[in-house]
Amino acid sequence: MASEDKKPKAACFDGEAARSLVTELRKTITRMTSIEALRTDLSKPVLEAFVSEIAMLKSSCEFTLKQLKRWMVPEKVKTSITTFPSSAEIVPEPLGVVLVISAWNYPFLLSLDPVIGAIAAGNAVVLKPSEIAPATSSLLAKLLGEYMDSSAVKVIEGAVPETSALLEQKWDKIFYTGCGFSTSGCHYEVGDGQLMCQSSPSSGVDGSRKISFVGSKLEREFFWPRVLETFNTVDGDREEEGFGCIELLAVLLNWLVLPSEHAGHEGGCEVKSHIAWELNIKPCFVGNGKVGRIVLAAAAKHLTPVGLELGGKCPVIVDSNINLIVTARRIIAGKWGMNNGQACISADHIITTKDFAPKLIDALKVELVKFYGNEPLVSEDLSRIVSSNHFARVTKLLDDDKVAGKIVHGGQKDQNNLKIAPTILLDVPEDCLMMNEEIFGPLLPIVTVNNLEDSFNIINSREKPLAAYLFTTNKRLKEAFVKNVTAGGLLINDIALHIANPYLPFGGVGESGMGSYHGRFSFDTFTHKKAVLYRSFAGDASARYPPYTPGKLKLL
Ligand code: NAD
Repeated sequence: MASEDKKPKAACFDGEAARSLVTELRKTITRMTSIEALRTDLSKPVLEAFVSEIAMLKSSCEFTLKQLKRWMVPEKVKTSITTFPSSAEIVPEPLGVVLVISAWNYPFLLSLDPVIGAIAAGNAVVLKPSEIAPATSSLLAKLLGEYMDSSAVKVIEGAVPETSALLEQKWDKIFYTGCGFSTSGCHYEVGDGQLMCQSSPSSGVDGSRKISFVGSKLEREFFWPRVLETFNTVDGDREEEGFGCIELLAVLLNWLVLPSEHAGHEGGCEVKSHIAWELNIKPCFVGNGKVGRIVLAAAAKHLTPVGLELGGKCPVIVDSNINLIVTARRIIAGKWGMNNGQACISADHIITTKDFAPKLIDALKVELVKFYGNEPLVSEDLSRIVSSNHFARVTKLLDDDKVAGKIVHGGQKDQNNLKIAPTILLDVPEDCLMMNEEIFGPLLPIVTVNNLEDSFNIINSREKPLAAYLFTTNKRLKEAFVKNVTAGGLLINDIALHIANPYLPFGGVGESGMGSYHGRFSFDTFTHKKAVLYRSFAGDASARYPPYTPGKLKLL
């Protein structure tokens, strides 16, 4: 073989540089006094915070460091007769500069796990953590700023306006984890138009709020000019301090600014319903994937590839053929033991048979008391609800007339401390609010069926969930579940643990997202697979070249 035919052996990025960045990130994670930040943002129990965020991240770094050499090696593939003689390989190369936008519920894990994959694959990253976990966001900015090479990883903090500005830039990939529903604010329908107010609960705590408007015809023609007039803001900045969205609406519509006791987060809900009634404005929650669609639309302008890690309603089917106590404990761990239900793969609702539901409820009640005592609102082992907006959102699901009288356990709330107790509801109707939105909180409705296999139809008639769970020892049922139920991931006889297996891809399907990550899948998601075919000058067949004589045609 002539020297010109020799192939390069290494991948086309500097694996050593990538390894040392991941090593630095691992050290940075170790340095984090992060549990304090997680306690400030979410009152996360220390053990839970450590296991589900810090330990997960460290093991993700270690797994990546162990495997990276193997992942980055070009993959030799077969060739076809058409290209004979030749050889071929797939060479991974970095995409370039990627934007990672993350969510608040696991604010370290969801921010840094994609970053590990992105830098391991040789990319530079801009990370935008969630403003709804502000202590964690600022710790990430501080520590990554201090310890990581800023040409490789940069943190930009901010809320909707800052994220919108980032989304206007051209990126080589956008990786977004989030919504969901109205997580950052409320959505108001006004007559035939639409005004969406996003208020930042983090700044709402001290009475001031950032407000941004996502426009519609109504906004452009009616509201926005008045916003400018009233607050003398600059168009494009789209932000005002000091008012909640309700107060702003009131001003816009020439109402008196509401008394200050309504400006705090507790008053917000009542005021909302008051205004809603007076002005015929209907508060409602933003549909699943709303922000995901905003991200996708922004990416389309630059033809940027996108990974969307969204949410959904993760169902748990419970058969009677089980170890009841272990099932109850695992459901509790996978619901209330995961950020008090504020987790994308937490149990959203249970489907079981009418006959078995009372037994399951009894077991759940017994184990719940063992775990969190008789006064769960003061338990140190339960996270609080992240913000007043979310507290109002979960309360609204519970106050829905359609679920009146359905609570069989819990239901207690502490608005001052943003705590809601583990709450179980039985036989909620299909058309109630909580069965039509991702619950993302400590409510666990139980739907009953006559025959457990009916649950497959119930699940498949809804949007595809991020995860679906089944508890059973019945082999046939397990097989039917795997064959018939579509979800980002399936797990049998536990909740959420599939996330901890780095050999499995983690991601959604349909409304629960697109693309996946974790382990090798993270590396792949931030890599371009470059197809390379090597030919030598030998074996040059003249048949492919003109003139196309009858003799050459006969070869076909
Ligand atoms: P979110 O969409 O409100 O916020 C996520 C990020 O998007 C934040 O950084 C925020 O600043 C930004 N953002 C919010 N509104 C925006 C807008 N209008 N324009 C541009 N950027 C905007 O989501 P969240 O409340 O932080 O997260 C909760 C949701 O995320 C739930 O639905 C949950 O199921 C889902 N989730 C999914 C996963 C997963 O891995 N699939 C993990 C955690 C959470």
